[in-house]
Amino acid sequence: MREASTRLADTLSARGVTRRDFLKYCGAVAGALGLAESAAPQIASALEKAAALKPVVWLEAGSCSGCTESVAQADSPDIATIVLDILSVNYSETLMAGAGYSAEEAKAETVKAGGYILIYEGAVMTGWDGDALVIAGKKGTDDLKEVAENAEAILAIGSCAVDGGFVSQYPNPAGATGVQSFLNSVGVKKTVINLPTCPVNPEWVVAVVVEYLLLGRAPEMVQRTQSDGTVLNFPKAIFGQTVHDNCPRRGHFENGEFVSQFGSKEEAMSYCLYKMGCKGPQTYTNCPVVRWNRRASWCIESGAPCIGCGGLDWVDNNAPFLKRMSDMQLKGALGLGNVQPGSVAAAVGGVAAAALVAHGLGMKAAGRVGDGPPMEEMKAYDRKRGTKKGGDQ
Ligand code: SF4
Ligand code: SF4
Repeated sequence: MREASTRLADTLSARGVTRRDFLKYCGAVAGALGLAESAAPQIASALEKAAALKPVVWLEAGSCSGCTESVAQADSPDIATIVLDILSVNYSETLMAGAGYSAEEAKAETVKAGGYILIYEGAVMTGWDGDALVIAGKKGTDDLKEVAENAEAILAIGSCAVDGGFVSQYPNPAGATGVQSFLNSVGVKKTVINLPTCPVNPEWVVAVVVEYLLLGRAPEMVQRTQSDGTVLNFPKAIFGQTVHDNCPRRGHFENGEFVSQFGSKEEAMSYCLYKMGCKGPQTYTNCPVVRWNRRASWCIESGAPCIGCGGLDWVDNNAPFLKRMSDMQLKGALGLGNVQPGSVAAAVGGVAAAALVAHGLGMKAAGRVGDGPPMEEMKAYDRKRGTKKGGDQ
């Protein structure tokens, strides 16, 4: 069997990627991990050995396949794609060429051998006793339990796998939920590494896999609590700071220079998008640092407010996306209900939250921002039209 490093070198060269480009990419991965760029050669070496070290089982459940698409970037594969290609992805419903019995056999053999990384995309569909999602005649919930029990590491990629994402939004008839919440409920004691956003940023997937291969353990984590009380773990280097902390428009925020209308002069001058609904202050991701699409740009740089897809319960909490909230939507992040700014400061007691609240109140007092849309009224209307959570339509 050929060496994994030769396989990677061949694949890179066949796709026109030079060794220099590859090392540059490894430097960017180091950045995403919060390491110095001088760690690039170590990262390159870990990637070269990756195929020999760990197989990957990639399960997909209730989702739009956007995370697979994000990682595969089928139209123009880049180095991240090649790196993920080179990992021994022994099973992936969406990407693998094999199908039917041979595909299921490949998965069964990998699970039996153990020592693999489980990458899980999409929400866990618990509705109708697990019949909401059946793959190869098996309930998706049984499949996840079995594959997770024997996995060496579990990555939940994309918001749906983290806490149910958009699939779990009210009224959630199919009982969609996140991987950690589901595993806790069936007594599988494993810590899931959560990588939210909708879809996931492929560079984070590579960065976490690389760190796992380099150090043989999960990265340093921060914890946040889902609305059902589940404590979730997130890599600190990626999800330890808010979008707002690193946003290039932050100076305009501090100066009270806001866009109030798309197409305006203020928009052309790249003023702060807070009044247009930006959820950067309450969303913990390093999107401004790692960026998207091969580091070409990212949401706010391309002129769109952050809609908070890296947060918890993000659709219920943040919609309508392009309106500023009249209350702080911190349900998922802090394990609280939707609360008014003053009570957030009192309940959390955190310097950052209090400062943000004070800042928001100050801006309101100065007449810089209005009350926002009638969120509670709109949500009450939606609730009245919906059906019971987890029930039949
Ligand atoms: S509110 Fe949004 S656009 Fe404004 S500085 Fe914060 S993250 Fe950037
Ligand atoms: S900047 Fe905000 S909306 Fe854009 S990907 Fe990051 S968390 Fe999601």
